[in-house]
Amino acid sequence: MKFGGTSIGTASAMRRVMLIVAGEKKKAVPLVVLSACSGITNRLIQIAIAAGESRLDEAMELSGEVRKHHRKLVDVLISDEGRRAAVIEKVEAYIAELDMLIKGVDIVGELTARSFDTFCSFGELLSTTIFSEAMQEAGHETVWTDIREVMITDDNFGSARPVEELCEKNVKNALKPLLEQGKIVVTQGFIGSTRDGKTTTFGRGGSDFTAALLGAWLTSNEIQIWTDVDGVMTCDPRIVPEARSIRVMTFSEAAELSYLGAKVLHPDTIAPAVKQNIPVYVLNALHPEAKGTVITNNPAILEGMSYGGLVKSIAVKKGQCIINFRSNKMLGRHGFMADFFDVFAQAGVSVEMISTSEVSVSLTVSESASLGKLLAGLRKIGEVELEPDVATISVVGDNLRTSKGVAGRIFSAMKDVNIRMISQGASEINVGFVVEGEDVPKALQNLHHEFFSGSEACGIFEHPTMKRR
Ligand code: ADP
Ligand code: ASP
Ligand code: MG
Repeated sequence: MKFGGTSIGTASAMRRVMLIVAGEKKKAVPLVVLSACSGITNRLIQIAIAAGESRLDEAMELSGEVRKHHRKLVDVLISDEGRRAAVIEKVEAYIAELDMLIKGVDIVGELTARSFDTFCSFGELLSTTIFSEAMQEAGHETVWTDIREVMITDDNFGSARPVEELCEKNVKNALKPLLEQGKIVVTQGFIGSTRDGKTTTFGRGGSDFTAALLGAWLTSNEIQIWTDVDGVMTCDPRIVPEARSIRVMTFSEAAELSYLGAKVLHPDTIAPAVKQNIPVYVLNALHPEAKGTVITNNPAILEGMSYGGLVKSIAVKKGQCIINFRSNKMLGRHGFMADFFDVFAQAGVSVEMISTSEVSVSLTVSESASLGKLLAGLRKIGEVELEPDVATISVVGDNLRTSKGVAGRIFSAMKDVNIRMISQGASEINVGFVVEGEDVPKALQNLHHEFFSGSEACGIFEHPTMKRR
């Protein structure tokens, strides 16, 4: 069971999660993965940057805010005096470590990727420490585990990946026996450690990935991702308030959606579940009785839940930039594309969407990528034009593969939107296009209306009266 930041951001939210975990324990012993409380990872990042830029006072002040947030949680959640003193000691020890790191980075005058990950790790360490103790006070047998002793990763700080065989062995030796003894394991998402004990992270939103990995290594019955919305929805509900919960979707649909920008699942979450064929439930911690979404390839479940519908969901990725490239040398010449992409490889910029013709290539890259070296390289071999502040919108569904007329419907729904680029995904289960940033709400609302207001959408969405499982 993984709970995201908003699910544990306040004492009352944490209490709700305690009840959800206790309820699950009546059915099967859960392993609980927590994120940092909402906003805390952002704070830690601000602290790291301030320390790296020698703004010591600011870093220390922000650290004081992190401390205050967690001290308040302890005060509200832990009433036994002896226990409270012990938890406060643990919280203070983490804050002292954080402050030491701030001072160290300030003295050295440089923030490395390695120390950045250490800064980021405190949020999960603090949230799990308090949660585990609060559960114990409520009479549940929990074991707090430092996941860094289990989740051994490579040393790609900021986007580490696990050393699978080692981790799987650690999970079987260290975590499985605890669960078999009926103890609820409480541990951190997002973080890990290199073989020589340096703290690493999986990258933003990485707790989902932790949960999926642990779930797969434990061959769990299911992986539950608890968040602040009723499962995976037909569109980002912050942009399209009419978005509806999707009852059931396939692994490929969920993976595609997360790759294409739906923040509800970290893009790496699905692969470990597919490997072991474990269903992934996406559930709402604020509304636990709702059914949420089940992601599975099991035909019995898919059919039982009237899996169907043409378009399953619409994803959006903002903050993109189009690069239009043109060169007459492309015409009829082999090897040109290899040279073209070599410029991207040399500059370390990854390409997101792409569309080509005989003499031109259009593609999108993230606006946050540093483009200086890339553009200099491209200008040596052709003409380059940039279109910043665009967004990729993708329509996703397994049934797109076999259906006719989808593109026509998409583009007629988009008739009053300026489309800058189009691409039909090679996976055949998405059709994507690029619009200007300011057109995103209109484009999404038009598309949502086109595909989700009619009767064809019925059967796959949650009815408010349905109970989970
Ligand atoms: P957590 O802290 O639980 O990991 P996130 O903020 O990472 O939560 O992800 C949940 C958010 O993802 C939702 O609040 C919602 O705004 C956003 N979101 C974007 N696209 C979708 C979608 N298709 N379905 C559901 N939520 C989505
Ligand atoms: N706390 C981390 C973040 O904010 C990881 C996560 O929430 O999944 O990115
Ligand atoms: Mg998340």
